[in-house]
Order: sequence, then structure tokens, then C-alpha cells
Amino acid sequence: MASFHKILIANRGEIALRIQRACRELGIPTVAVHSTADATAMHVRLADESVCIGPPSARDSYLNIPAILSAAAITGADAIHPGYGFLSENARFAEMVEAHGLTFIGPAPAHIRMMGDKIAAKTAMAGLGVPLVPGSDGAIADLGEARAVAGRIGYPVLIKAAAGGGGRGMKVAASEGELEEAWRVARTEAASAFGNDQVYIEKYLDRPRHIELQVLADAHGNVVHFGERDCSLQRRHQKLLEEAGSPALDAAARDALGARVTSALAQLGYRNAGTLEFLYQDGQFAFIEMNTRLQVEHPVSEAIAGVDLVQEQIRLAAGEPLGYTQADIRFSGHAIECRINAEDPVSFAPTPGRVNVFHPPGGPGVRVDSALYAGYVVPPYYDSLVAKLIVHAPSRPEAIARLARALDEFVIDGIKTTLPLHQRIVRDKEFAAGDYTIHWLEDFVARS
Ligand code: ADP
Repeated sequence: MASFHKILIANRGEIALRIQRACRELGIPTVAVHSTADATAMHVRLADESVCIGPPSARDSYLNIPAILSAAAITGADAIHPGYGFLSENARFAEMVEAHGLTFIGPAPAHIRMMGDKIAAKTAMAGLGVPLVPGSDGAIADLGEARAVAGRIGYPVLIKAAAGGGGRGMKVAASEGELEEAWRVARTEAASAFGNDQVYIEKYLDRPRHIELQVLADAHGNVVHFGERDCSLQRRHQKLLEEAGSPALDAAARDALGARVTSALAQLGYRNAGTLEFLYQDGQFAFIEMNTRLQVEHPVSEAIAGVDLVQEQIRLAAGEPLGYTQADIRFSGHAIECRINAEDPVSFAPTPGRVNVFHPPGGPGVRVDSALYAGYVVPPYYDSLVAKLIVHAPSRPEAIARLARALDEFVIDGIKTTLPLHQRIVRDKEFAAGDYTIHWLEDFVARS
């Protein structure tokens, strides 16, 4: 069996631990990297080996490519897992990893680059027969062109950054009167956040769900999917709660989407893990983007499909074939994940600080992915996600009941978190009915 001798994990927090756990079960030693602010972080404390790669600022540590490559060289790692965020979708990093004779645990750099440019991604997918949200054919050169495109597809429209991510560089124009302002703000935000002010236009859908499909592909042309995740519960285009499967899809709709997507990716020659994101409205899917990495919400797919996606990523990166087909993948029950952020549950302002008590829930069907511990000080420098609570049960109503009791057991004392918000969501009648769109959570927050 092809494998690696040692894997360097170029990340921090819960995802670094998640990858460590996968490696440990595969019998592969790991190297943790950390900033000076993370010297006592859980991913360092549990690591086989660790290397300090720089000061607190992510730019100088977790995004510092020479420091990470040096850490791999001095520890003798032969592969690098990037996790999500940081360098996970940086094609240049993937190329440099390979140029140093190491394996990047992820897709080919060319595919990372293609999907990182959302305009190129949409063009590629359209060419492979995947339906898109109506919009501009490519980048918009000037305000005149923006007016013409918006007039053609009809208001409201959404101006989006070609290099976008994390919900930034996205502005709605409800009418022609708002277009100039939206155009200007989206470009400025795109330039400052991504160093690229290219924007494109999409029809702004008024009541879609966000439904995405998890795929895995080997280097031998086999592609499978692990079903859909419904990530419609978002605030400022950022996901807060995810479900597998979607309350809005039946098995036939899932199979049809899966067949289309897996055949497109096989034609593309894609490999390793990926997620295709769609908006779903009036029974129609429209592709918005592809993420060429492990997603935060991957555990809900793991729960319903009974698979370890991180171990699969490692196996596939080592050149192993999938070893199973779509027909072998069975879905069982329903899973829900809550993202617990170190944020005020009302104002959503970040709340770094010392955790005095950390008591995660347990019992049947409960998984907690977190790097918190009592006495840990959440640093102010990084993403506010501090824990993920995942529940799995035979049906959606049972999963909701399980989630409600698990949330009630969960104690994180010392810092404010989004736990109380999740406790309210999980008891809401509309949520229980599965009747929501991407706009539901913002309304829910505003009225509660
Ligand atoms: P990012 O890469 O910044 O996350 P996405 O293209 O994935 O950006 O979009 C993030 C979210 O923004 C989607 O999940 C959806 O809620 C909303 N969104 C994106 N495109 C549209 C659209 N055309 N109409 C309505 N909402 C949209």
C-alpha cells in the first residue's frame, strides 16, 4: 500500500487536530507547525513533532511558504496537508511543495488555479454541461458593460470578485440606481482583500438554498460523490450550520446532480477532494464555485456516508485508487453541524480570551471537533471558529433532538460564543420544518 513516512500539517486549530487524528490512525507520524502565539495550542501539544514558523500574524507564519517548506525539510516530512483556509487553495504553494519533491495532499496546482478564479471555474463548468447562475460571460471591463449585463439579466444583480472567498467582495445592486456604488465598493473590496479587482455579475437569486456536493477522485479517472450538504444557514455569506442531506432534496435529485458532477470532474481529470457549490431554487441547480480542498463542514458527509474523508485524501494523494464505486456508497440517517465561534452571539464581535471551563457534550451520535481546553487563551489573530458540534441520528427530527440536548450539555465558560444562537435555531419551528433559504438566518437573527 502506497503511503507517506511523515506528514506536515500546515494549519492550526481544530482542523490541524482533525488531520493529526487521521494520520495517527493510518500510522503516519505528523509534524505540527505553529506561530509564536500558538506555542501552547492543542495541535502543538498533541503533535509528534512541532516547528515554530514565525510570529503571530498569519502572513508571517501560517502563510509563510519558505518557513513551512523549511520545516518540512528539517523534519523529513514527505507530504503536506494544508487543511482549509491559509495556503489550502494557493496554487503556487502546491507547485512549490511539489518542486521540493514533496506531495501536496490535494488536487493538481492547475485545478486549484482554475477554480480559484471563479470566472475560469464557471467557464470550465459550463463547458462540461454544469448549469450556472445567469450572469456575465466573464470579467466586466467597465461600468458601461456592467449596466448592459445587468439590464440584460434583470435586477437585482450581485457583483462578485473573481478571486473572492469568505463572502468578501460581493455587493448587491437592487436597481440601476445602486449599480455604480455596488460596482465601486465590490472592486475596492476585491482589490484590498485579494489583490485582484476583477469582478463579474450574477443574477441575485431571491430565495435559493446553498447546496454543495462532496466529491473524491483518484488519479486513475474514478470520481465518486458523498452526497450533498445544505449550508443555507449563513450570516454575511458565512456558513453557521450545515446539514447532510438537504431537507429540500430527495435521493433522485441527489443522484441526478451527483451523476452530472462526477462525470464533469472525470472529464476534467480532477483528483483528490473537492466541493462544488450550487444555489438551488425552483427545482434548479446553478453552480457558483468549486472549493479544491477539505471543507469545514466535511464531518456531516463523513457521518452519513461512514467514511473518513481525510484518510481518503491521504490515500488518494499517495496514488492509491479509490477501490470502490458510487454504488458502494450508502447514505444513512441525517447529520447536522454547528459552527461554534468565539463571537458575541448578538453583535458577532470576536471574543478572544481565556477559556475557564470546557465541557464538550457526549453520548450516542455526538462528535466534537475542537482545539479548546480549560485554561487555553483564544488568540485574537485567527479565525473565530473554536469548535464544531456534529450530531448524527437515523432521521432529521431525531438529529434535531440530539443536537438540542448536546448543545445544552456544552459548556464553554470564560468567553462568549455562538452556542446560545444555535440553541435558539435548533428550537425554531421553521428550522424544524427544514423550510429555509440563504436569507433565513439573517432574518432570524434580526427578529430574535
Ligand atoms: P465565497 O467564495 O466568498 O464564499 P460564494 O460564491 O461561494 O462566495 O457565495 C457565498 C454565498 O453568497 C452563497 O452561499 C450564497 O449564500 C450567496 N450568493 C452567492 N452568489 C449568489 C447569487 N447569485 N444570488 C444570491 N446569493 C448568492
